[in-house]
Amino acid sequence: MSRIPEQTISRIIETADIVEVISSRIELKKRGLNFWALCPFHDEKTPSFSVSPSKQIYSCFGGCGAKGGVVNFLMQYDKIQFVEAIEKLANMYNIEIKLDEKSFQSRNIKSQLLEIYKITSNYYRNQIKKEINLEYFNYLLKRKINQEMIELYEIGCSNKDSEELLNLLRKNKFSAEAMKKSGLFINGKNGYFETFNSRVIFPIKNPAGDVIAFAGRVLDDNPKTRKFINSYDSPIYYKSKNLYGLDIAKNYINKEKNVFLVEGQWDVVRMHQSGFKNVVSIGGTSLTDLQATIIKQYTSNIFVLLDGDSAGKKAAIRSGYTLLKNSIDCKIICPPNNFDPDDWLLTETGKKELTEKIKNARSTIHFHFDNIDKSENNAINNFIEESINHIVEIKDPIFRELIAKSLSNIIDVKQENILQSIENKLKPRPSFITKDKKEKIISSKGSINLIEDDLIRLCLSNEFDARKIIFKYMNKDWLISVIHQIIFDEIYVHLNSDYEIPLDLIINKTEDDSVRNKIIELYEDDSKFSPCKEMAIDCLIRFEKRVLKKDIQILRNKIKDARSDEINSIISQISNIEKNINELNLKYKNE
Ligand SMILES: [Zn+2]
Repeated sequence: MSRIPEQTISRIIETADIVEVISSRIELKKRGLNFWALCPFHDEKTPSFSVSPSKQIYSCFGGCGAKGGVVNFLMQYDKIQFVEAIEKLANMYNIEIKLDEKSFQSRNIKSQLLEIYKITSNYYRNQIKKEINLEYFNYLLKRKINQEMIELYEIGCSNKDSEELLNLLRKNKFSAEAMKKSGLFINGKNGYFETFNSRVIFPIKNPAGDVIAFAGRVLDDNPKTRKFINSYDSPIYYKSKNLYGLDIAKNYINKEKNVFLVEGQWDVVRMHQSGFKNVVSIGGTSLTDLQATIIKQYTSNIFVLLDGDSAGKKAAIRSGYTLLKNSIDCKIICPPNNFDPDDWLLTETGKKELTEKIKNARSTIHFHFDNIDKSENNAINNFIEESINHIVEIKDPIFRELIAKSLSNIIDVKQENILQSIENKLKPRPSFITKDKKEKIISSKGSINLIEDDLIRLCLSNEFDARKIIFKYMNKDWLISVIHQIIFDEIYVHLNSDYEIPLDLIINKTEDDSVRNKIIELYEDDSKFSPCKEMAIDCLIRFEKRVLKKDIQILRNKIKDARSDEINSIISQISNIEKNINELNLKYKNE
C-alpha cells in the first residue's frame, strides 16, 4: 500500500499560494487586502468571492457560502479527489513526491478504519451468498427485498462464527488501536466475539461510497435482543451527520431535484425498489441539525416521510422545524393506518397513494396544525406559542418573515401581531467577548454555540498561555455541539505547543464541509476578538458551570420520584455540587 507521506503533503500545502493557484483558474482583482472574483461555484452578477493571501483561504459571501483552502479549491473547481489535488499542486510547484511503502501499522487511524470496514463489509456480503447462511437470505426474501436491492445496498449477514472474520483482519496487520476503535468486536469471557453476530447487515456509507459503519437486524422479534444495533461513533463515523443511502441517492436527487427523508434502512430499500430512488434515511427518530446542513447541499426540496403512527408524526414535525431553522420549508407526507413507508409500499395501492400524497403534501406548520388535538384546552394557543418559538430560531430574516406569514394564514391571526410577537422574542445577540466586555458576557445568557465558538477562537489564537490552560483543563465532553467537538479533537494536540496551529493544513485536509466552514468562519472573524489567559479561564468556568448545573437539574428531577429515605442524600449531593460551582474560581487561582 503506497501513499504520499504526511510531510510531503504538508510541504506542498505550505508552498502553494492560494492567489497563484486560483488565478490560474479564474480572474482575480485586488481590492483592499483581498482579491475578489465572481464566484465560480454559483451564478452571480457582482463579485462576492474573496481570496485572502494572508490567511490563505477563499470565502464566498454570496449565495453559496463556499469556503476553503487551496486544496479544497482545486477539489471543488476541478472536481477531483484530495490526492489528485495534492499531485497537481506538486506539479505546479515542482515538488517531488516519493511514495511511502509503509505497513498499515503506521497509517493513520482513519485510513485503517476505512480499510477494516471495507474488508468486513465484503466479508458480510459474501456470507449471505453461502448455503449455511440461507436463513438470512430467505429472511430478506420474506420481507420482499429483491436480489437487485441486496446487491445494490450490499446487504450481508454475520453468522455466529467470529474466528473467520477476526483471522481475516489479523492478516492485514492493523494496529490494535484501529481494531479497538472499529467497534466490530467485543472482548467477552470466552474471547472476542462479533458485535454484529447473527444479524442481517446493512453497510452504512459516506456520500463517497466508503463503508464507515454497520446497522444489524436480528431475524426474530425476540423482545430480549435489540432488533437493530448500530455502530458507535468513531473517527470515520458520526451518527448524527450520516444519511443512509446518500451515496446511491445523490444522482437521483440531482435528477429529480428533490429527496425523500425516511426513518430506517428498510424504508430506503423499499422506496428504491418501488421506484422512488431519491431517498435517504435519517437513521433515527428525528433529523439532526448536521443532517439538515448536509442534505441542503444537495437540494432544498425535501419530503419528510416518517412513520404513520403518532410517534412518527411527532418526529416528522420535529424534523420539519429543524429544516425550517435551516431555511428549508419541507413538505411532510404521512403514511395511512400507522404504516411505515415499508409497510405502505407493500400494500397493493401503496405506490399509487404515495404518488397522490406527494401532490398534496403539507408544509411543516400546516402539518403541525393538522395534528394538534383541537379538543384540548388552549390547543390553538399552545400551537401558536410553539410554532413561534421555532420560527424565532430561523436565522435568515426574509425566510423568517415568509414563514410567519404562512402561520398567520393558517390560524387567521393578523400578520402584524405574529411578527410583533416574533420581534419580542428575538433578543439581541451578545457580540464577541473582548477584555472590557468580559463582565457583561459572563452574566448574559448567550446561545449554546456562542461559548463553544469562543473556546475554539481561543484555541485558534496565538495566545499560548490561553491555549495551554485549555489543553490542561478542557474536557471534550463539555462541548454540546458535534461540529465543535470534531474541531476540538483536530486541534487538541497542538494546544500545548509553542508554535502556531498549522491552520492551513487543518483547513485543507478537512473533508467535511460543515466542519471546515465553521473553522474558517471562526478564523476569519477575529477582528473584535482579543484573546488572553483570563478569557480562557472564564470560558472554562462557564463550561463547567453549565455541566454542573445540568447535573443539579437531573438530581432535582430525581427528587420527584425518589423514596422518602433517598431524598436527604439527593439534597446533600445537590448542595455539594452547588459548593463546587461556587468554588470553580479557586481551581484556577494558581494559573
Ligand atoms: Zn458562491
